[in-house]
Amino acid sequence: MSDAKRLILILGDQLDLQGVALKEFNPSSDELIMIESSEEATYVWSHQAKIAIFLSAMRHFSEELRSLQYPLTYIKESPLSIIDILKNQLIEKKINCLVCVEPGEWRLKKAIEQLVEELKISLVMYEDNHFFCTHQEFREWASNKKELRLEYFYRQMRKTHHILIDADGEPEGGQWNFDQDNRKPYPKKGPGMVDGPIQFQPDQITLDVLAYVKNNYKDHPGSLEYFNWPVTRAQALEGLQYFIDYRLRNFGVFQDAMWTKTPFGWHSVLSTSLNLKLLNPREVINAVLGAWKKYSLDLSTVEGFIRQILGWREFVRGMYYLDMPKMAEDNYYSHTRALPKWYWDGHTQMACMRDAIGQTLKYGYAHHIQRLMITGNFALLAEILPSEVCDWYLAIYVDAIEWVELPNTAGMALFANGGRFTSKPYIASGAYVKRMSNYCDTCPYKPDVRYGENACPITTLYWNFLIKHRAQLEANPRSRLMTANLSRISVEDQRAIASHAHKILDNLNEI
Ligand code: FAD
Ligand code: SF4
Repeated sequence: MSDAKRLILILGDQLDLQGVALKEFNPSSDELIMIESSEEATYVWSHQAKIAIFLSAMRHFSEELRSLQYPLTYIKESPLSIIDILKNQLIEKKINCLVCVEPGEWRLKKAIEQLVEELKISLVMYEDNHFFCTHQEFREWASNKKELRLEYFYRQMRKTHHILIDADGEPEGGQWNFDQDNRKPYPKKGPGMVDGPIQFQPDQITLDVLAYVKNNYKDHPGSLEYFNWPVTRAQALEGLQYFIDYRLRNFGVFQDAMWTKTPFGWHSVLSTSLNLKLLNPREVINAVLGAWKKYSLDLSTVEGFIRQILGWREFVRGMYYLDMPKMAEDNYYSHTRALPKWYWDGHTQMACMRDAIGQTLKYGYAHHIQRLMITGNFALLAEILPSEVCDWYLAIYVDAIEWVELPNTAGMALFANGGRFTSKPYIASGAYVKRMSNYCDTCPYKPDVRYGENACPITTLYWNFLIKHRAQLEANPRSRLMTANLSRISVEDQRAIASHAHKILDNLNEI
């Protein structure tokens, strides 16, 4: 047995006893370390609930490790950075080898690599075992593709892992994708009774964390009043079971629907548990497959949900590690405007933005379509600098970790990488918001009015975007159809739209 002393670093989003670094634990040579660093909460100005969920989940996990007699150093409430603390500990403990799982943020991965080089010690960095697709597999898949598209990746994942594949090797139900069935708005009268997510009673650890965050991060955005996030594996499992039993049945059909006072819709609210590794995506998919038979659920719902986890989640992770660090710098449209101030406080007259941002500040949560087609759509149409938008998403959502936030924001919502993995920009006018929600009913703006006094800013900016980028969109067969309706708008009206859009863009803080 070698006399190498190893330190195993467990990061705040690696809270699984079955994680690969812990599986490799050797009691004769290894110690563990976990670090609470305030820099992690301030390098983007994080939502208070995001800070709280990480700290509470980390402290609960540390208790679990201690109860299992792991030799753990837990650094609490430190003002230093993770790297500075790690450096001190590696020197003090005379460590020869740092062991960790690959961080979900590029900057931290690079900083750790630099640190071990500086200290001339060795590094064992395992790939995270909480994903179906390894980096190597993703690189191989991407290497011979002309276009990197979710659909083809997802089909391959279904086949490789034999999920929703019938006895003849064909997709269950005869088709790969039931997306068309999963885009319905709520009925005109509204969603009716929606069973909210499961409620958790905060224990003493969570109460202490909430008090600490309230005192120490009072100028950070968001509220702690509604904090109801699972912070242990046991709670995460309860959350999963609750979703399976009460909410999954309606997930599919209303996946894209939005409605006031319905912040969670029928969504699973499982992203924090998955991202902190309190849940493994394999057990989530197995639970959904089990419920399909047990509750005779529609295949479209089951497929729709599995596509999010086995498809999108794996795909964006693959893209992040394939395209970093460039992904963080891309700015295809050369947008430079500052993020309007009301993204941080919700004080805008636009009812859709006010609702999506308002619930985000309350809970640290908005569902996918709110993130993509409300806040994301506006940020693209309003020509905001992508890095400012990405920082906002990273700060404000409780489930935000860069590997999943950045590809969704820069790649999907902002088209900042010029369509590396999407065929065309995801943009919409107020007409889409009107169709998919009741937001427009109480808005001072009118979704169908393109310019002038009551014009919906989203509609004005949508047409302005099409006018501005018409030549480019039409040059590409995949986006050619986007401008078809422009020919029905007179040249005078197009001028009026562009002029009104100018006024909006120059006064983004005032709308
Ligand atoms: P559900 O709608 O119930 O979906 C089930 C699960 O599928 C989610 O928990 C999530 O793990 C996975 N999933 C669904 N869509 C995606 C997707 N596009 N990419 C990756 N996983 C997906 N998700 C994050 O986890 N962290 C983020 O920081 C994040 N930032 C986003 C930023 C933008 C601009 C957009 C458009 C999407 C972002 N997403 C992010 C994806 C998605 O919006 C969230 O995963 C989802 O809203 C979380 O809520 P839920 O658990 O109720 O999801
Ligand atoms: Fe949003 Fe426009 Fe509808 Fe108002 S009118 S809610 S700004 S889409």
